[in-house]
Amino acid sequence: MPPRSRPEVLFPIFAPVTALKGVGPRIGKHIERLAGEQIVDLLWHLPTGIVDRRYSPALQDLEPGRVATLELKIGRHHPPPVNNRRIPYRIDCSDATGEITLVYFHGRKDYLTGALPEGETRLVSGTAELYDGRLQMTHPDMVARPDERETVMRVQPVYPLTEGLSQNVLGKAIAGAVERAPELPEWLDPAFRSGRGWDDWRASLHAAHSPEGGKDLLPGTNARMRLAYDEILASQLAISLVRAHVRRQPGRPTAGDGHLRERVRAALPFALTGSQEAAIADITGDMAGDHRMLRLLQGDVGSGKTVVALMAMLTAVEAGRQAALMAPTEILAQQHHATIAPLAEAAGVACVLLTGRDKGKARAGLLERLASGEVPIVVGTHALFQDDIAFEDLALAVVDEQHRFGVHQRMLLADKGKDVDVLLMTATPIPRTLMLAAYGDLDESQLRDKPAGRKPVRTTTASIERLDDAVAGVRRQIESGGKVFWVCPLVEESETADVAAATARHAALQQRFGERVGLVHGRMSGKEKDGVMARFAGADQPALDILVATTVIEVGVDVPDATVMVIEHAERFGLAQLHQLRGRIGRGSREATCLLLFGREIGETARERLRVLRETDDGFEIAEQDLRLRGAGDVLGTRQSGLPEFRLVDLDAHSELLAIARDDARLIVERDPELKSARGNALRTLLYLFERDAAVRYARTG
Ligand code: ADP
Ligand code: MG
Repeated sequence: MPPRSRPEVLFPIFAPVTALKGVGPRIGKHIERLAGEQIVDLLWHLPTGIVDRRYSPALQDLEPGRVATLELKIGRHHPPPVNNRRIPYRIDCSDATGEITLVYFHGRKDYLTGALPEGETRLVSGTAELYDGRLQMTHPDMVARPDERETVMRVQPVYPLTEGLSQNVLGKAIAGAVERAPELPEWLDPAFRSGRGWDDWRASLHAAHSPEGGKDLLPGTNARMRLAYDEILASQLAISLVRAHVRRQPGRPTAGDGHLRERVRAALPFALTGSQEAAIADITGDMAGDHRMLRLLQGDVGSGKTVVALMAMLTAVEAGRQAALMAPTEILAQQHHATIAPLAEAAGVACVLLTGRDKGKARAGLLERLASGEVPIVVGTHALFQDDIAFEDLALAVVDEQHRFGVHQRMLLADKGKDVDVLLMTATPIPRTLMLAAYGDLDESQLRDKPAGRKPVRTTTASIERLDDAVAGVRRQIESGGKVFWVCPLVEESETADVAAATARHAALQQRFGERVGLVHGRMSGKEKDGVMARFAGADQPALDILVATTVIEVGVDVPDATVMVIEHAERFGLAQLHQLRGRIGRGSREATCLLLFGREIGETARERLRVLRETDDGFEIAEQDLRLRGAGDVLGTRQSGLPEFRLVDLDAHSELLAIARDDARLIVERDPELKSARGNALRTLLYLFERDAAVRYARTG
């Protein structure tokens, strides 16, 4: 949505932070990094502490160590000798009852003579200490003129900072932002609001930024609850609008006669599990219905989602229409294609692969065959929703690892056809609470039982000091024909450092095992990675026995012979991530082992994470444990999770608001789908306020 459709009342806060007084380009950069680019981002930056500056004693009564605001007569300045910067700049001050010295290390003379002119009276706020029986205040927090008493002598909010910003500068910027916040029309149901005892939006915002005591910083205050509810409501309303939009689409029933599915079943070397059957029934039921499908298929790595997706796609093909499966990476897309194509072809159905690597003539040829309907199934990456791609008649879009795509991107694919049914898939099960937060009442199917014959992966943990034992174990595995993944740790989230660590480990292992050790990392091109992977998978020569990797192998990558996974510094990985990694092994018939090596600096929670992994192999259970260990706020906070990022919501404290907001949103969309009542209009403003603008266009128009 172009910003011009944003309600005008919001313009003052949807301006760059540099529009605030006292915020120039340099400070603006720091603020952007800390909170965001726009003034509205500062509104959401809530205080985490307070400093009470109301204590204002005479010097003779001053309690050292306590924050105080003093009214002082400024005496002589004592700058340090020119060539001795270690001696501080000192200023003598006094009141009627005593004396105090202000001390500045590396003080700038021009600034200090301006701010504290000799002979004048100033308010000085900070913490004084006694030195040799004399009062001294080092680097006062604030200096002001006596007529500014009111702005100084108060409870000052303390905000989380970033390097380059001081509390004063940030505090002023935020105060300026809050001042600019306009009165907004009320979007809450009046009875609900008064029942809760909540103030209006602007007053609540003011209150949240003006704590008077520690209690006012808690998530349960009326002000913070109201702001959190607003944010949740915006999110739930956006979900409900999109959902209603999808459901309103007439949707063409897509039902096949089952003949292709039968052929594939006959070609499968295994029987489908109970939950695969149930999921297929859910999906074909949705597709046959006259609403558009939007369903999430959750199941651990290796639980067999691909076959379920294939059955859904064949249903579309039986109905004479097309299906597309989109994966987040080339490796994954290739892998899906490699699984699906032979099965589809066994049933006489063509299935092509389309990624960013297809260029020129070959690509043009593929597009041609999709547009003409000659090819009924395509597997690909982001390349699938580029502008020039057209289908003859797309009925089903399957999105794998859906959290790697934005809502918008998923929609783009669905827009490639008429009334396209959408199946989302994820191998990172989402705990209940978060499911609600992220998706409202999304339809879902779960693959909970593992395909038959799968042996559980044996998981052990050891200190990294026992690396030599690990290497010996690796040698035994290789000698008996196994293959080994060796995962190198994240180093402070810097990719360069990751790559360096993996490269070093690769070199060390090569010294012991020779040329049969390969390396993949995020800095390699897709082609290079594929080359190495193919050698590891045994498809290309010379073959590799050990693959050293950074987390690029996290998703996808099927190497059935891989029997061992060593994860270095496992304590640095998240629970879900470790579980995902571990899912790469144990796919063949041989028993598999995962060895988690932990470093010396392992903390309590990390230990607990490793324990959970030793004890369970069930992704749903692990997701719940992850939530317990991290807290909802944290799980939501990570971009990787694919869940909405909340600025004001603390899901541990505000979870009761979720279900209320979901019901509220559902009711709103039911009663006022166009958002054109007075409340509906206010709700539009709410959506813009929380930048859920994209959803506004799904409010039914006329
Ligand atoms: P996911 O996509 O959920 O990670 P896949 O669909 O890639 O899992 O399946 C993993 C492996 O299990 C594949 O090799 C697949 O052929 C196999 N598989 C799928 N369903 C079954 C089943 N019911 N019984 C045995 N093996 C299965
Ligand atoms: Mg898969």
